[in-house]
Amino acid sequence: MAEALLIVDLQNDFLPPAGALAVPRGDQVIAPIDELVASGRFELVVATRDWHPPDHASFASQGGEWPDHCVRGTPGAQLSACLDVSAVDAVIDKGVERTAAGYSAFEVEALRALLREAHVDAVTITGLATDVCVLHTALDALREGLRVTISTRAVRGIDAHRTAAALAELSDAGARVV
Ligand SMILES: [Zn+2]
Repeated sequence: MAEALLIVDLQNDFLPPAGALAVPRGDQVIAPIDELVASGRFELVVATRDWHPPDHASFASQGGEWPDHCVRGTPGAQLSACLDVSAVDAVIDKGVERTAAGYSAFEVEALRALLREAHVDAVTITGLATDVCVLHTALDALREGLRVTISTRAVRGIDAHRTAAALAELSDAGARVV
């Protein structure tokens, strides 16, 4: 069986200082993620992107809860140039419909298919943000029956309290939080 590395939303809009929805200290995940990518221990490396239409329901401009971010095709939606994309096997776009939240990468059937085809039974989840897309992706991974590891060096959250709660919830749900 095989392990996959999931890199959640390492996109310019989530990175300080200039991102539209910058995660505090989000840039600190880049070096640990690059280390994991370079380790060679993952059969499959998958990067996800928030890839929203300009009128996405989550946007403040539409009455939603987040600043407008990661509009498909814009510089803010691009993966960080610091990520070695040559080592990424697949990119999964989520939140592509106006009303699809895109919090979990498992909303995208193509991800499930990829993992199945590669006989993946375990995932290490990294990226941004711990209290939103990492949390929902990891909970869904557990529901899929996968073994889940969260590398705390390689994730950062938007809100400190919700981030601590998210890591506790994941640990309680059976994830290995290391
Ligand atoms: Zn989003």
